[in-house]
Amino acid sequence: MSETTQATLAGATGKAYEARAYAASSASSGLASTRIRRREPRPQDVRLEVLFCGVCHSDLHQVRNEWQNTMPTVYPCVPGHEIVGRVTKAGRDVRKLKEGDLAAVGCMVDSCRTCAACREGQEQFCDGPATFTYNSTDIHLGGVTYGGYSDSIVVDEAFVLRVSDRLEPAGAAPLLCAGITTYSPLRHWNVRKGQKVGVVGLGGLGHMAVKLAGAFGARVVVFTTSAGKAEDAMRLGAHDVVVSRNAAEMQKHLGSFDFILDTVSAVHDLNAYLELLKRDGTLTMVGAPEAPLPVGVFSLLFRRRRLAGSLIGGIRETQEMLDFCAEHGITSDVEVIPVQKINEAYDRLAKGDVKYRFVVDMASLK
Ligand code: NAP
Ligand code: ZN
Ligand code: ZN
Repeated sequence: MSETTQATLAGATGKAYEARAYAASSASSGLASTRIRRREPRPQDVRLEVLFCGVCHSDLHQVRNEWQNTMPTVYPCVPGHEIVGRVTKAGRDVRKLKEGDLAAVGCMVDSCRTCAACREGQEQFCDGPATFTYNSTDIHLGGVTYGGYSDSIVVDEAFVLRVSDRLEPAGAAPLLCAGITTYSPLRHWNVRKGQKVGVVGLGGLGHMAVKLAGAFGARVVVFTTSAGKAEDAMRLGAHDVVVSRNAAEMQKHLGSFDFILDTVSAVHDLNAYLELLKRDGTLTMVGAPEAPLPVGVFSLLFRRRRLAGSLIGGIRETQEMLDFCAEHGITSDVEVIPVQKINEAYDRLAKGDVKYRFVVDMASLK
């Protein structure tokens, strides 16, 4: 019996209520209004009224089934993993939150809690694997988990984050994925004052990387394919901007970077960026293009360069990032939209036409 079948049977008894949501029914259908089942909160669960949900490029990849070889999409698909909401119910065992609190949910809603990764607070690497906020097996109700393009969500308190009242809720929503996905590798590779750091791609993740690397004291250079974003890059805190299609501009930076974070969502040439690293420098991929990217190994051999990857961040680190952002006044630059504009927003996101994150105002779903 497959895991999903077992879960479906096990979940048949789960108590549920109906919630409103926006879902895609196929890779080409776009998203439309629907109703979904959510579990009734258990003693350890928190129910949030979703106030704002960011639109990540991963939502688009998943809805359009662009990752079909690694993470095929199960339809209907309710995306959304940058969720800020108000607690409307806290189960009797919930300790860290109470009704009325501002809270958040990111890319994960559960994990095994016992494997080495979980014990180290790196639930994103759970052997289980982790239960992602959408398109993961739902062990409670069967089928798959449904994300934040919805009026409410029910999550175990261990996977719910506290949000400071100092953070503006719409601008805070993208921190739950774009924020932590850039914060975590910058911290892991110890980006600090005196270092030269490159950010490739100025989109949702890229603009957060510029703000965060700047806050850690690094000298930040943005690589963009969009000459029109140069002024914004400087306003966001970059010290220099390179239009990556210009070979002469790229040449000026050969062998000079300590660390480069690549946030590009489409297939592109990595080798040009490897050449920009210093000896022992690291290029870390967070962007997740659907097809493999060829690597010329000589760029790695000479100067002992490293090519790495990073996936979101653990729950403890996500809370640390939210607290850091509250302390330093860092939020995302957002374009708030009603949910009815979601398909238009996806088309614009596919073209790189967003400054710098769409966030859905869920009040529009009522
Ligand atoms: P986004 O807002 O669309 O930004 C991506 C940027 O990449 C664009 O703004 C554009 O920047 C650049 N770009 C797009 N097409 C390009 C091309 N053909 N060649 C070169 N550059 C191109 O997307 P996002 O939400 O930041 O997400 C970026 C990627 O990270 C996606 O693949 C997403 O799935 C992935 N992701 C990974 C994780 C993780 O845990 N690793 C978490 C979240 C998202 P310019 O206009 O400046 O060139
Ligand atoms: Zn995301
Ligand atoms: Zn685990």
